Amino acid sequence: MTTTMTRRGLLIILSSPSGAGKSTLAKRMRAWDPSIVFSVSATTRAPRPGEVDGEDYHFMTDSAFKKAVGQGEMLEHAHVFGNFYGSPKGPVRDAIIAGKDVLFDIDWQGAQQMTNSELALHTLSIFLLPPSIAELKRRLEARGQDGADVISRRMQKSWDEISHWGSYDFVLVNENLDATEAHLKSIITATRLRRTQQPGLLDHVRGLQQEFEEGEE
Ligand code: GDP
Ligand code: ADP
Repeated sequence: MTTTMTRRGLLIILSSPSGAGKSTLAKRMRAWDPSIVFSVSATTRAPRPGEVDGEDYHFMTDSAFKKAVGQGEMLEHAHVFGNFYGSPKGPVRDAIIAGKDVLFDIDWQGAQQMTNSELALHTLSIFLLPPSIAELKRRLEARGQDGADVISRRMQKSWDEISHWGSYDFVLVNENLDATEAHLKSIITATRLRRTQQPGLLDHVRGLQQEFEEGEE
C-alpha cells in the first residue's frame, strides 16, 4: 500500500529583541528549505540601505497601513519602535492552502495575537535570546544599518521584548550561529510531524486497518 501523505502548513513565529539574529536565521531557514514562505510584513518604517520593497518589507505610509488594518487585511499588527508593522493575510492564506509553512519575523505582540487566535493549533513559536546584553549591542552596531540614536532606542526596548520569552514554545540562546541553525531545523522538522500537522494520517490508518482485516480473513 502506498499513500501520499498531505501536510498542513505550519505558522513558524520567530521573535527576539532587535539584533539577536531573527533575519539571519530566517534567511538560513529559507535556504535550507525553499518551500518555506517568508511572510513579508507591511511597515511604516523607512527602508534601510539595501532593503527591497516587497522582499524585505512592504513599505507603506501611515494612512495606507491604517486603511489595510481597517479593511481586515492584516493577520496581526502592532506598534513597535514608533512604527506600525503587520502581517498581510493574503499570502499566508495561499501558502497554507498549498500545504506550505510560513515563517514570521514578528514581535511578542504579534506572536500573542496569533497564538491566542483560532490559528493556535498550527503555530510554532520560537524566541531567540542573545548570549548577553553586551553582545546584543555589539551585533546591532556591527550590522551597521542603524544610527546611534536608533540603536540606543532598540537597546532600551530590548528588555520589553525579552520579558516575554516565557510564552514561546521553544527558546534558543543564539550564541553560535551554526548551532542555533541546527536546533531550529530540528524543531521545525519535529513539529512538522505533530499529529495535528498530518491530516492524511486518518486515511492512512484506515488503509492499514483495511489491509490488516483483509489479511485476517
Ligand atoms: P530589526 O528587528 O532590528 O531588524 O528591525 P525591524 O524594523 O525590521 O523590526 C522591528 C521589530 O518589528 C522586530 O521585533 C520585528 O520582529 C517586528 N516586526 C516586523 N514585522 C512585524 C509584523 O508584521 N508584525 C509584528 N507584530 N511585528 C513585526
Ligand atoms: P534581528 O533580525 O533579530 O534584528 P539580525 O539577524 O539582523 O538580527 O542580526 C544582527 C547582527 O548580528 C547581524 O549583523 C548578524 O550577522 C549578526 N549575528 C546574528 N547571529 C549571530 C551569531 N550567532 N553570532 C554572531 N553574530 C550574529
